Amino acid sequence: MTIKLNDPTLLKTQAFIDGKWVDADSGETFAVTNPATGEHLADVASVGAGETRRAIEAGEQAMADWKALPPKTRCDLLEKWYQLMLDNTEDLATIMTAEQGKTLAESRGEVGYGASFIKWFAEEGKRVYGDIIPSTPDRRGVVIKQPVGVVAAITPWNFPNAMITRKAGPALAVGCAIVLKPAAETPLSALALVELADRAGLPAGLFSVLPSANAAEVGGEMTSNTTVKKVTFTGSTPVGKLLMKQCADTVKRTSMELGGNAPVIVFDDADLDQAVAGALVAKYRNSGQTCICANRLLVQEGIYDAFVEKFAAAVAEFRIGNGFEAATTHGPVITEKAAAEIHAKVQNAVEEGATVIIGGQPGEQGGSFYQPTVLTDVNDQMRVFREEIFGPVAPVFKFSTEQEAVRMANDTEFGLAAYLYTENLGRIWRVSEAIDYGMVGVNETAISSEIIPFGGVKESGQGREGSKYGLDDYLETKYICMGGLNR
Ligand code: ADP
Repeated sequence: MTIKLNDPTLLKTQAFIDGKWVDADSGETFAVTNPATGEHLADVASVGAGETRRAIEAGEQAMADWKALPPKTRCDLLEKWYQLMLDNTEDLATIMTAEQGKTLAESRGEVGYGASFIKWFAEEGKRVYGDIIPSTPDRRGVVIKQPVGVVAAITPWNFPNAMITRKAGPALAVGCAIVLKPAAETPLSALALVELADRAGLPAGLFSVLPSANAAEVGGEMTSNTTVKKVTFTGSTPVGKLLMKQCADTVKRTSMELGGNAPVIVFDDADLDQAVAGALVAKYRNSGQTCICANRLLVQEGIYDAFVEKFAAAVAEFRIGNGFEAATTHGPVITEKAAAEIHAKVQNAVEEGATVIIGGQPGEQGGSFYQPTVLTDVNDQMRVFREEIFGPVAPVFKFSTEQEAVRMANDTEFGLAAYLYTENLGRIWRVSEAIDYGMVGVNETAISSEIIPFGGVKESGQGREGSKYGLDDYLETKYICMGGLNR
């Protein structure tokens, strides 16, 4: 094993089902590799439909007692899990950088961010209030909120920790059980997380983790099993649509965090330094691999040249490399295939007339590396406008009027995050309300945290994660008619 940890027992390679570490029934495993070095890290159990069914049944059994506990008891346990995550930050970050490639600083940041969802929902889980509805003299309407039931979750590789905790936190806090299939690229982070939940004392069966190289088989069981009442997914729009179709047969509730195509709109009256700094973070964070990453920089003509010059000069300072090395500012992308797909989009733009200001090629290190790239002379017919790039490539589009900027921002099937830079208060309100996005950053791109409702509109998905609204996705509303009160 090549991952060196302070606590080597956090490195798990089996599935965690009903409180036990187990091999796949078939004995099959899949390899996990380091995207920066190609190094083989571990062989992890690859489970199928049978193990998924058992995990769901265990969840249903465990939920019976769990949901009956006082909320405070459940939430105290989540607080312990939160503390264990913080105590083991260094090991969790090491595992993450090894399997995902992001820099150690980014990994440490994600562990704190991921843990914050557990803390938040440990607090918020005590506040699941209902309502009393005034009615005729002999009756009152009572509304209570109850846990939705066994939850199935499928998560991606770009945030191997936080995309799990923002689902597991609210589900467990309100009294649900959860079965999770992490991405095959990053199962080790998920397995370390559930090990810590187990150490915190989470009863067996409430949280099972099902690593698998056969996502369709596990997903098929999750979406067809009648015991599962809710499927929560973060990943690509095509897979999200497929899961929604599969869920239709048993009318399951779904939460979908899907793709994005975020615009950063920079108006002539923006603070240039602030806009450049914000756009850099929004674009290149996690090497461009977040669903709220800036995909299209839309810059007004009066400030365009100055913006491109400053932006490209800052990009020239980036150092791509192994995330474990201190000088590295940006790691690789997740796989060689991903790097090739990013390059295909850049080539499409160049063939259609784009100018490469900086980058534009696979990284000199080869493998999964791609150079931080800035493109100008781009237009709305190019793939870099229409598709999610999911890599360190910034196409900078030019616009002349506010109306045009709004039209360009909305010219996409996606609607997750958008950002705008302007000093004009009227424009801030006009544009924020006119663009079809679930989240809008005004003069700010670091918009996500546990206290805000994260989610999209259009084909970017449905449901919200984090904040007080994040609980609703795991609750059913029940109406009880209290009658006969005149007796
Ligand atoms: P990405 O392109 O970012 O890998 P995906 O949507 O393919 O996005 O993957 C996100 C998650 O969805 C991963 O855990 C992956 O294993 C899972 N997944 C992919 N295809 C399916 C499927 N057919 N059914 C269920 N889960 C799937």
